[in-house]
Amino acid sequence: MEPVIERFDPAEGIRLYRFGVCAFPGLESKVHLILAPPLSVLVDTGSGFGESDDDLEAGLELIASQFGEASRPHQLTHILVSHGHIDHFGGLSHLRERCTAHVVLHELDLPVVTRYAERLEITAGRLESFLRRAGASQATRKGLLEMYRMTKGLVRGAAVDTVVEGGHGDLGRLHLTHYPGHCPGLMTVRVGDILLTSDLVLPRTSPHQSPEELAPYTGLDHYLASLRRLRREPAPRLALGGHEEPMPEVRARISQIEQLHAQRLAQVVAFVEQERTLNEISFELFGPVQGYHVLLALEEAGAHTEFLLQRGYVDLVNAGALGEGMSAAARYRRSPTRRWSGLPPSPEP
Ligand SMILES: [Zn+2]
Ligand SMILES: [Zn+2]
Repeated sequence: MEPVIERFDPAEGIRLYRFGVCAFPGLESKVHLILAPPLSVLVDTGSGFGESDDDLEAGLELIASQFGEASRPHQLTHILVSHGHIDHFGGLSHLRERCTAHVVLHELDLPVVTRYAERLEITAGRLESFLRRAGASQATRKGLLEMYRMTKGLVRGAAVDTVVEGGHGDLGRLHLTHYPGHCPGLMTVRVGDILLTSDLVLPRTSPHQSPEELAPYTGLDHYLASLRRLRREPAPRLALGGHEEPMPEVRARISQIEQLHAQRLAQVVAFVEQERTLNEISFELFGPVQGYHVLLALEEAGAHTEFLLQRGYVDLVNAGALGEGMSAAARYRRSPTRRWSGLPPSPEP
């Protein structure tokens, strides 16, 4: 299907184009092209799966033919990967064969993009023990790990030219800021009065969370800290996420996402009045789910439980039974001494 191109004017002399590519069945990822002479920066590449590469090339071609821009792959000067999730960087290896653009990403997502197969194995190993401790049945674990390897195995790694270190980076008139949580190396891009939020803030979906035990710099703790930090930044005229429609009121959306997590945390605390496994907590939060969503739900429940455990609101009841080679599921219970009274209010900017 031919992509629909949206055009924005973030600042004098800068054009920003946006279109969707089909990353996976039922998931559209947004690709942004920023033309800030002399730079021509593509932000994200789709997944490389199915029609994604074709959609990407068709979108760049349409920007050239409809708007007369120098937007074809060989004319790009930079490809910026907003974060190391495959629906954003999976198209990189294909694109690299068609252009000489400089690839830029944050250092914390460097290994996942450049040493993809190795990372897959490391994460699969962690995932296996996470699922075991979560109390997922052996059949569920096997199914989920197969699905994980299959979905992620579709992607090839790709070389990267420049990494952004620490909290900030500049690319001409583009200002990059690191916001860990949803993914270790997620960066937003501010250009003029527009902010590309990637998957830090989305208008309809609450960005997926997984526990930090699966990957450092993820986890609800980092994510909520990132939201608070973003709220303190000057509000953009318009925010554009990595999926879904534009967000004119990004601060209001941040508040909604914070409220949703606050509700979930309260739900977990109430539910672990009695001893519960993560599998049970996940069911309480999300009900019955199927396929890959079982893993997503367990990760999300794991992120919330970990957040409460880190702060002593929830206790691990059977730590002694969880050592190496043991197959027990972790059981959690509300702390008898430390009472959860909600997230601290976000400071006004
Ligand atoms: Zn993501
Ligand atoms: Zn995404």
